[in-house]
Amino acid sequence: MDKEILYRTVEEKASVITTVSDRIWEYAELSMMEVKSAAEYVAVLKAEGFAVQENLCGIATAFSGSYGSGRPVIGFLGEFDALSGLSQMHSVVHPQAITEGGCGHGCGHNLLGAGSLGAAIAVKKAIEAGHLSGTVVFYGCPGEEGCAGKTFMARDGMFRDLDAALTWHPGDTNEITIGSNAASIQMEYHFSGTAAHAADDPWNGRSALDAAELMNVGVQFLREHMKPKESVHYSFTDAGGVSPNVVQPTANLVYMIRGENVRTAKALAQRVDDIAKGAALMTGTTVTSHQIDGTANTLSNGVLEQLLHDNMVSAPLPEYTQEEILFARRMKATFAPSPLPGLLTNEDPRLRKAVIQKTEHGRKAINNFVFPYIPSYKFSPGSTDVGDVSWLTPTAQFTAVTWPSGSPGHSWQNVSCGRTSLAHKGMLFAAKTLAATAADLMENPELLAQVREEFDITAAEGYDCPIGPEVVPVIG
Ligand SMILES: [Zn+2]
Ligand SMILES: [Zn+2]
Repeated sequence: MDKEILYRTVEEKASVITTVSDRIWEYAELSMMEVKSAAEYVAVLKAEGFAVQENLCGIATAFSGSYGSGRPVIGFLGEFDALSGLSQMHSVVHPQAITEGGCGHGCGHNLLGAGSLGAAIAVKKAIEAGHLSGTVVFYGCPGEEGCAGKTFMARDGMFRDLDAALTWHPGDTNEITIGSNAASIQMEYHFSGTAAHAADDPWNGRSALDAAELMNVGVQFLREHMKPKESVHYSFTDAGGVSPNVVQPTANLVYMIRGENVRTAKALAQRVDDIAKGAALMTGTTVTSHQIDGTANTLSNGVLEQLLHDNMVSAPLPEYTQEEILFARRMKATFAPSPLPGLLTNEDPRLRKAVIQKTEHGRKAINNFVFPYIPSYKFSPGSTDVGDVSWLTPTAQFTAVTWPSGSPGHSWQNVSCGRTSLAHKGMLFAAKTLAATAADLMENPELLAQVREEFDITAAEGYDCPIGPEVVPVIG
């Protein structure tokens, strides 16, 4: 089909898409508490003629909207949760909270969800008009920041029936997201001891705080014996009471344990578990633990990524006004410039071009170009629940420019940008790219077969869900 039709639909629906994004920005609801945000999506999906399913997998803010019939079935993933402590006015170049200590969209998920929705609407209209055949599904995926919502949806049966899943993330470059992310396991450890007067009869006390500290020391020693792609981080969520003259009877730790894949992350988590037990044994306390959440490593799909890249190149790039460029320059002055990449002596002209563009990327206020797609293995030490989807259906993702180059992640700057025309333009560009890619997949069964062929090889081991059946999503 003529992709101009898809682009036009996105432009015609621009006010619907940006209104959703701006409202979600305003609601700024935390992980698994996105009640108003989910209701907003459900209302728009129904008004646009999608068949809506709410309360997916027993999660109050998980939903889907589908349109069409038969195969292929193409899914768009939408996130919409905010971050705590990032309340911020929009369109200003200084930190200024709307509500002190409130929440804000520092990761741009207001744009992420609405951009994916825009793509779903454009594909739906094309199916309705007879330009395409198949089914389009928009997934409302809650709790990305707080509890890996997609992992729970993946565990409970979602995404398996898709022929492909596509998504994007707001960012400072137009670029395919390549490579893999770490798998993760998040655990909570609760130590329980016996309170006593710390001076009068400490021999009667059993310190849970000592146990927690010994566990952390034990894990420090473990670090030397971990593989390079593994990492462990922790936080105290309870260090006992505030009085030092009490032997602390309780302590809580949260551990994030990461590995190259689910198998290695689980094996590392087992070693951390053993250290917790050892700490309890050393201190005469008891320890209980439970899993909070987890994510699988991401499988990339080169065929799908190339297609997404080609469509990113074909889609009309946003043009920016002088006002937007000025705003980006002023915003850029509020954070330290990102280090420029060193010069690489590589004969691959695409890589050379990428290095030159990366350098430009460090200097420009807005990166109004598409990075070349260079399929290569890259390992990102962080984790994402898109990884779980990628084990169940071929999945690809990209970033689109919604804020100035070098803008730090999870920052007030991103919250401020999230309701500007600069961000809206990037979101609509993402919607066009996603819709056009879905159109290619629907029109070209051979292409879809190649995508599936690659997936069948990379996902041959099958999905090893990182969370057990007993794990329930944490709210907030
Ligand atoms: Zn984030
Ligand atoms: Zn994010």
